[in-house]
Formats: sequence, C-alpha cells, structure tokens
Amino acid sequence: MNTDAFPVGPNPRHKTHQVTVQWGNNQVQIGGDAPVVVQSMTNTDTADAIATAIQVKQLAQAGSEIVRITVNSPDAAKEVPAIREQLDRMGCSVPLVGDFHFNGHKLLTQFPECAQALSKYRINPGNMGGGKKRDDNFVQMIEVACKYNKPVRIGVNWGSLDHDLMAKMMDQNNQRSAPWSAQAVMREALVVSALSNAERAQEIGLAANKIVLSCKVSHVQDLISVYRNISSRGNYALHLGLTEAGMGSKGIVASTAGLSVLLQEGIGDTIRISLTPEPGGDRAKEVIVAQEILQSLGLRAFTPLVVSCPGCGRTSSTFFQELADKIQLYLRQSMPEWRIRYPGVENMNVAVMGCVVNGPGESRHADIGISLPGTGEVPTAPVFIDGERRMTLKGDDISEQFQEIVEEYVINRYGKKA
Ligand code: SF4
Repeated sequence: MNTDAFPVGPNPRHKTHQVTVQWGNNQVQIGGDAPVVVQSMTNTDTADAIATAIQVKQLAQAGSEIVRITVNSPDAAKEVPAIREQLDRMGCSVPLVGDFHFNGHKLLTQFPECAQALSKYRINPGNMGGGKKRDDNFVQMIEVACKYNKPVRIGVNWGSLDHDLMAKMMDQNNQRSAPWSAQAVMREALVVSALSNAERAQEIGLAANKIVLSCKVSHVQDLISVYRNISSRGNYALHLGLTEAGMGSKGIVASTAGLSVLLQEGIGDTIRISLTPEPGGDRAKEVIVAQEILQSLGLRAFTPLVVSCPGCGRTSSTFFQELADKIQLYLRQSMPEWRIRYPGVENMNVAVMGCVVNGPGESRHADIGISLPGTGEVPTAPVFIDGERRMTLKGDDISEQFQEIVEEYVINRYGKKA
C-alpha cells in the first residue's frame, strides 16, 4: 500500500562515474553520490593574472566550487601558474579549469606549468580542426591529461559542432526512408560527438572517472531532449547548462526552466549558469542563481532563504520589501563566516510578511519570521520563533531589532556546543 499520498522530491540521481577535481587538499567530487556541484567562469583577460585571481576568489567566495578560466593564447597559458600561486597566497584553493579551443593541444604541451596548475581541462571537440589533424590534436590533449592525472570535460556545443560529423550524419539522414528533422539530427550529433569522443579518450588511456561530458545548447527544449538522451546512453558524469543563456530575467528563467526539469529527473552532476552580466554587473550573480536553483529544488542548501510575500494594496509602504531585501543580503554576507561557525544554518528559513492576512501563518511555518503591519493595522510587528509568537517590535528601528534577533537565534540554535 502506498502510505505516501503526496510523494515529493526529485527522482534518484542517474548513476554516473564519480570524478575528482582537486587542488591541494580541496577535493571536489562530480557525479556518483556527490551533491550537484556549482561552477562558474571568469570574464577577465586570463593574461591579466591579478584581475583574474581576484575574480576567481570573488566567485569562490560567492560559493563557486570550481572556477573555469579561458586559456586562449600563449600569454594566457603563461599566466595560469601565477594565477594559481596568487590564489594559494590568498588562501583560496578552489580548483581551476582551463577552457581550451583551437590551440589547446599546443598550449598544454608548450606550457607544462599551466597544464599542472589547472585541475581539469575543458576540451571542445568541434574546435580542434578537421580530419586527421583533429584526432592528432585530441590525442595530444588527452595524453597531457593522462600524464598529469587531470580530469577532462569534453564539452560539445551546438555553436561549434564538429562539421565533419554533422555532414556525415546529414548524409546518413537523407538515406532514411523517413528522414529526421534537421533539429533531431543536430541533437543526435551532439550526443554522438560527446559519447564518441569520450570513448576515444578512454582508448587513449583516460579513465571513465576522469571524464565529464556536456552538450550545450541555447534552447530549453533542446537541452532537455539532449540530456535525457545522453544520460540514457552512458554513465559519464554530466555538466549541465544552457550556453548563451542570455541577460537578466530571460537568462535566469531559461536556465531555471531547463535545468530544473533535468535535475528533478535525477540528471546532472554539476551546473553552470551562463548569464550575460549587465554592464558593470556582478559576475557572482551566476553563482547565486545556480545555488538558488539547487536550493529551491531541495537538492542542496547554501544560504538561509527568506520567504516574503509579494505585497499588495494592504501594504502601506516599501518598508517590508526593504526589510526582506536587507535580511537576505545580511544572511548571504554572513554565510562565509556562519558556514564555519554555525553548521546547518544554511537550512534556516526566515519569513518577512507584509500584513496580518498571511503574515502570522507564514511566519509560524518559518524558523523565524516577522509579520509587518499593513495599511490601517496597529504599527507593531509580531516576531515568531520556532512557530511561537515571542515578541512584538515597535518603533523606527524594527529592521535593526529583527536582524539582532536573527543573529541571536543563529548563535543559540547552530552554535557549536562545547
Ligand atoms: S501577506 Fe498581506 S501584504 Fe502580503 S500579499 Fe498577502 S495580503 Fe498582501
């Protein structure tokens, strides 16, 4: 008999090989039973070692567990060891991934210190030349990975799909009695390219638990279809993400829509959100979005979440919006220290509600919640802790008082007992 009338939660994770991405003592596991890993990528010029090291550190502090940097030229490759040293000096052991296209075989062989300083290589088989040259270049890169014991992501991208393979598959398609659509051939070509290159890498000597695959596309339905397919055809660890997700809400919504479907189905071992930053915007936004997707799905917890109502005609001012924003920022900024001092605090729920309609109820369901006065209500704000009304705040400094109460709650509930 089914005793669980409302089963919830994601499907069990698709079983994949577990890949270790390591720098020093910092080992990040991708795949297997490991939690889904958050990655990001810098947008600084890698040849500018200081600027790149600073941005890598910012991304790591925001919660990126692996950071990718482009290695596109000899000048960039030369600076990779300096970036690594600078990060080590700053106490930042986040593993670095080198993103290689076109000349990766040359850079990895001509700059061995770069090859050693990186913890993983990303190779795009569509950007390695054609025919025999392509295979030679691929062999060279995989041999370097074997020599330095580094994992590799074979990252196929629909914008740079292997032309020879695509042409061959289109020809084969024309021979079918009922040819597939061009879109279906493209999806199949992405999967075949990733899987055949993974098999080739294994033939050269790279173990299956050193290989991560990705098939990046920029449309949600292509992403879902391609990853469902590839996960049914192998057990390689999978990196998920839309390529060129876009800017602002479009990029966030498209990434969330695509990734959520797959993650709910147990597909995906590591994610990156390829947001186009606003001019002068914060690069770490892509890390926060990745974390919030995983946390909203209940797959991981990174930062206490603030539940707040949307507000309506019952709210007399923007005060409750400001309070919700302030508290979320305060929680996020406190996390680097809290993560160490108060284990488990990332699971805390905080509610900030705009009036008495849903305020007390929602606040009672949170670990700690506040219900602010709406239009025409008595100007007091009841605070609920662990489901019980504990105090009522008044005055001009409700925001500061509430922040103090949250901090005290964190210390009392999550502080390490001596
Ligand atoms: S809790 Fe109150 S202010 Fe918030 S949306 Fe509901 S009715 Fe409006």
